[in-house]
Amino acid sequence: MNKRQFLKTSGALVTGSFLSRFAPAQLPPAKPRTNWAGNLTYHTTNLFEPTTVAELQQIVRDHPKLRPLGTRHSFNTIADSTQAQISLANFKDITLDPQRKTVTVGAGVRYGDLAPVIDAKGFALHNLASLPHISVAGATATGTHGSGIHNGNLSTSVRAIEFISADGSLHTLSRDLDWDTFPGAVVHLGCIGVVTSVTLDLEPTFQVAQTVYLDLPFNELEHHLTDIFSAGYSVSIFTDWQNHRSTELWLKRRIQPGEKLDTPALFYNAKLATKDLHPIPALDAVNCTPQMGVPGPWYERLPHFRMNFTPSSGAELQTEYFVPLSDAYKAITAVETLRDRITPHLLTTELRTIAADNLWLSMACQRDSLAIHFTWKPEWPAVQELLPLIEAQLAPFNPRPHWGKLFTLSPTKLHQAYPKMNDFKLLVHQYDPNGKFRNQFIDTEIFS
Ligand SMILES: Cc1cc2nc3c(=O)[nH]c(=O)nc-3n(C[C@H](O)[C@H](O)[C@H](O)COP(=O)(O)OP(=O)(O)OC[C@H]3O[C@@H](n4cnc5c(N)ncnc54)[C@H](O)[C@@H]3O)c2cc1C
Repeated sequence: MNKRQFLKTSGALVTGSFLSRFAPAQLPPAKPRTNWAGNLTYHTTNLFEPTTVAELQQIVRDHPKLRPLGTRHSFNTIADSTQAQISLANFKDITLDPQRKTVTVGAGVRYGDLAPVIDAKGFALHNLASLPHISVAGATATGTHGSGIHNGNLSTSVRAIEFISADGSLHTLSRDLDWDTFPGAVVHLGCIGVVTSVTLDLEPTFQVAQTVYLDLPFNELEHHLTDIFSAGYSVSIFTDWQNHRSTELWLKRRIQPGEKLDTPALFYNAKLATKDLHPIPALDAVNCTPQMGVPGPWYERLPHFRMNFTPSSGAELQTEYFVPLSDAYKAITAVETLRDRITPHLLTTELRTIAADNLWLSMACQRDSLAIHFTWKPEWPAVQELLPLIEAQLAPFNPRPHWGKLFTLSPTKLHQAYPKMNDFKLLVHQYDPNGKFRNQFIDTEIFS
């Protein structure tokens, strides 16, 4: 493994002598901290957790290197640091503006904290990721997404961000006032400063009913992919890549109070499920949001996983690539050729759609997209060998990897996939001229 691969994937390498070769010698003997999946032990034990903006500003001024940290749900080294991390977990304010239909949340607020508060006041967000456990600030920093052919990722609902730049000064950038820089600043990968709050667009609250279908033949995707992904407000297709079919299809439809849901026994030759299911078929559905067409609030149906339960498997790695929606079926069949190598190491694959946006580093920037996601068993050596093979299969479609998940694509290919990459670098330079907030991941993937 070369240094570059290490930087992307050190998450899987927490044990053994390899890590010690890279760990700084001066680390104090404190308890090591890991990311959520436990595949990465952060390379510093220094963690600041300020409680006020003034305290945060002082910490920023006092330290030459500092990396913002959210709820630690990224799988790669994007939030890692060899020197110091700063968490805004104590920034928990939620301020609703019903007239402007916005909510401003402190950087420590998670979607699961926010959703019931705004729902109680009659409001909703346009979409959510598969889990509500992640912070709004950390999720929108990486272009985190849900599904829905007309739904942009979660960063598209950001209307303004407030952050502390490298010199300790406070800035606000908004969609309305800073039309030239704002699209570059929303998916910022933690590079422009420490975000203190994020203002989000709201819409009236709505209800969703979730129905699951089994064994969708891939032939139906070949002929009806857009229709299938348009059949609900949010649609997720899961597969183990075997037998040219999906294992489960989750259809999330908006529903009016009292409206009767049409749930035919067959949906494009997939069979209606007769009980609640987990996307990983072997796991218990108790961790999942209710299905079987039972209507409920948006925030208890759009994520697959319930707030007070472990999302997904818990012991896993994740990878995801975005390709243009127009190439979706070709990209699926390109990956399918690797099925007998992928399946033994896979917990599940999820296929989702994301509407194009104009955010410079969004994986869906200027492209309606299909996202091909892999939840892997925690078997890094095998996954590490598979990623370049999958990336080679997807190369004709100019894939964009999820910023918070594991990938091995070269920086050259990454830069080719993002036409506004140089503008992003200039923007970062404006707020952080000496690279205070940059870590090895950012230096390698963005600035190399
Ligand atoms: C079980 C599971 C399911 C997932 N499902 C999805 C999914 O459905 N869709 C999807 O797109 N992704 C998904 N992800 C990935 C996840 O959404 C992203 O990795 C997200 O960025 C994690 O947010 P976080 O708050 O944990 O931030 P972290 O992982 O801690 O940090 C992510 C980035 O945000 C920056 N950051 C965090 N806080 C701040 C701040 N205050 N100021 C400046 N920068 C900051 C960090 O520097 C870093 O660059 C999933 C991950 C897990 C573990």
